[in-house]
Amino acid sequence: MKLPTCWNCNYQFWWHELMFIFGWKKKCPDCGEMQYVTIDSIRKTYFLFLPLMFFIFIALNLPDNFLGQLLLLVVGIPAVLSPQPFLLKFTDHQQPLF
Ligand SMILES: [Zn+2]
Repeated sequence: MKLPTCWNCNYQFWWHELMFIFGWKKKCPDCGEMQYVTIDSIRKTYFLFLPLMFFIFIALNLPDNFLGQLLLLVVGIPAVLSPQPFLLKFTDHQQPLF
């Protein structure tokens, strides 16, 4: 798996730079051009949310085990979301969702 690059200057993004993307866009720290996440990448990312929902469901339904719930959320959520930056691909324009 490979991290995405800037469509303009081929800057290789770091994993931590892409962990939290708001509005499905990110500014390139090298050239300043706006990077828009492709629709295909957004769809793949949503598939990650299915196991995330499973973790949260299980954690909330553990019987009277606050430490177990906390541990499952603290370990489970980052574990599920950590491959997300590898699924991203950028383009130079915002693509329509439908
Ligand atoms: Zn760039």
